[in-house]
Amino acid sequence: MRSCDVKKTKEERLIELMGGRERAAQWLAARHGGGGRNDCWRWLGGLSLSGYGKVHRKDGDAKIEGYAPRVAWVVANGRPVPPGTRVYRSCEWKDCVNPAHLDVRQVGRL
Ligand SMILES: [Zn+2]
Repeated sequence: MRSCDVKKTKEERLIELMGGRERAAQWLAARHGGGGRNDCWRWLGGLSLSGYGKVHRKDGDAKIEGYAPRVAWVVANGRPVPPGTRVYRSCEWKDCVNPAHLDVRQVGRL
C-alpha cells in the first residue's frame, strides 16, 4: 500500500468527491451522449471557453474544477494521469470523453 499522504491529483480528488470510481463512471455516463465503443461520446455538460468538458465539485469551502476528458481517462484507467504527460484525443471532437479516444503522452518540448 502506498502512503496516505501522497497528494491526490485534481482528478482523483474529484472522483473521490463523486463517491468513488464506480459512481464517477455513472455520473460521467449521464453527462455524455454515449454511443458505440468507437464512437465519440460528446459531453453534454458545461464546457470551458476553449470547448472542453468541465467537471466541478465543492470540496469544503473550496471548489475543484477539472476537465471531463481527464476525469474520464482516470476513471477508465484506474490511475492518475502520470506526471509529465497530458491527455490527448485521437478524434476531432474537443468535447469527446470516450476513453478509447483518449491517451496520455509525454508533454512535448519546443
Ligand atoms: Zn472521440
